[in-house]
Amino acid sequence: MKILLKAKNFILDILFPIQCLGCGVELENLEPKKRWVCPECLKKIKTRKDQDCPVCEQFSEEGRTHYKCKKETALDGLWVATEYKYEVVNEAIHKFKFNFVKDISFSLSEILIKSILETEEYGDFQDLVLVNFSQESGEKKVYTEEEKNKKAETIIVPVPLHKKRYNWRGFNQAFLLSEYIANKFNLEICDNLLFRKRNTKPQTKIKSMGERKENIKGAFFISECLDVKNLIKNKNIVIVDDVCTTSTTLGECAKELKKAGAKNVWGLVVARR
Ligand SMILES: [Zn+2]
Ligand SMILES: [Zn+2]
Repeated sequence: MKILLKAKNFILDILFPIQCLGCGVELENLEPKKRWVCPECLKKIKTRKDQDCPVCEQFSEEGRTHYKCKKETALDGLWVATEYKYEVVNEAIHKFKFNFVKDISFSLSEILIKSILETEEYGDFQDLVLVNFSQESGEKKVYTEEEKNKKAETIIVPVPLHKKRYNWRGFNQAFLLSEYIANKFNLEICDNLLFRKRNTKPQTKIKSMGERKENIKGAFFISECLDVKNLIKNKNIVIVDDVCTTSTTLGECAKELKKAGAKNVWGLVVARR
């Protein structure tokens, strides 16, 4: 079956080669790292320089939640890689989410990685994400036993999809992005920790902020397994999603993770609508 699927993909690639979403150039694609944006267009995508507070969306250093906004969210901060208004970004996210083009995850994760590494100054967020990553060598950081005991681990957690929606789409876009991020930065990924209880309405379809909060409230829960709780106690967590709107979804996830003992919880998304 797998061979048949591979043969089918091979034929499809010859008949309909992938064209860069930015400039239309035909891309030579090698599984599993399928590019939908050519390296030239990727370079042109500007990453966000100034990050905002997840709650009030006003400037905040490194995207940390303002002190005064802390009562509104359990998120310690939010890192947004780029802007939704860029056509390439917009189209890539749309194809990924609504046209079920799974392979776009690679190009989107390239944007995430670029924004994390290219920023001028490293702060709280980089401390979490790059804890096991050496910038100089691009490889795994090596720690002594003593250092190992002192440092806090960081875990990547994708925003979970409800089973129904997963079956409909065939993949969880947040999980695919999480996988690339975890691999790149040598972090653990945990997708059996947080689950979605209710099949909520898509947040984008709801206009009022109050209704959005109500819609997502209590939508997530932590696995009952005690080992899982031990796993995240005092750990830092980065929750990954493709886009976010008001950050209420990420905030709800963060709330559950903190209840279970997580230390710092940050959000990471490609763009904010
Ligand atoms: Zn291009
Ligand atoms: Zn704020």
